[in-house]
Amino acid sequence: MQAAANVDALLDFVRRHPRLFVITGAGCSTEVGIPDYRDHNGEWKRPQPVTFQAFMGDEATRRRYWARSLLGWRVMGRAQPGSAHRALAALEAAGRIELLLTQNVDGLHSAAGSQRTLDLHGRIDTVLCMDCGMRAPRTALQHELERRNPGWVALQASAAPDGDADLEGLDFGGFDVPSCAHCGNGLLKPDVVFFGESVPRERVEAARAALARSQAVLVVGSSLMVYSGFRFVQAAADAGLPVAAVNQGRTRADGLLALKLEQDAGTALQALAHAWAQPHASVPAAVAGLVSGR
Ligand SMILES: [Zn+2]
Repeated sequence: MQAAANVDALLDFVRRHPRLFVITGAGCSTEVGIPDYRDHNGEWKRPQPVTFQAFMGDEATRRRYWARSLLGWRVMGRAQPGSAHRALAALEAAGRIELLLTQNVDGLHSAAGSQRTLDLHGRIDTVLCMDCGMRAPRTALQHELERRNPGWVALQASAAPDGDADLEGLDFGGFDVPSCAHCGNGLLKPDVVFFGESVPRERVEAARAALARSQAVLVVGSSLMVYSGFRFVQAAADAGLPVAAVNQGRTRADGLLALKLEQDAGTALQALAHAWAQPHASVPAAVAGLVSGR
């Protein structure tokens, strides 16, 4: 059963389970300016993202996608890791993380120094040709998009999730989207798993294998509303592994949690990392107060 929890309880959970399977979501990156899709009830708080089927099947959808991405990439491409990313990298450096499975496509766990990462939904900083399979850096495509569409470069729009931007009410028909530079005619797509698209099987299997080597699951900043991430919590619960979560608001796994912290990921993980580094961190606050003479 789920217990009301604070950072001391989370610290205790981490200490008792040295091999953690960590699942992260958008709540890890909101503090560094990357918006998320869902509210505290796990409901959509903005229009749902473009589906795989719409992107692949409709040229107008692709023009609109890349026009918005031209603006959204300016925020996404410059984002730096925040306290949740840094705390998880420190936890890995301390040898406590078997795998960090992230549903985020921003690459910020790797930027913070985490190495045992698996980007379940891919990376927005990479572009994939759907015809020849070539992968290329998103920055190169950005230069090409700007070169072909100089009139769009000066536009302003607020950042939206996953490198998107809120650009509406324009005629996207004139937006010029390049084809693959390698094969000449291939359709370019961000190397991320779109809504309506399946996660590649080898990624799911690599995650399942890591879960089998783990002792517990820690969810950070995710409502787990998307099945591709939720299934690992379900599998952990089925295998009898305890699951802890740090998330502000409801999660799809609330009924499966041994421990839940209703805090934002950055604040909670920073406190955890601080407590981890303190030899007296697990001493109850009242006793600690006596020890320090307060
Ligand atoms: Zn190609």
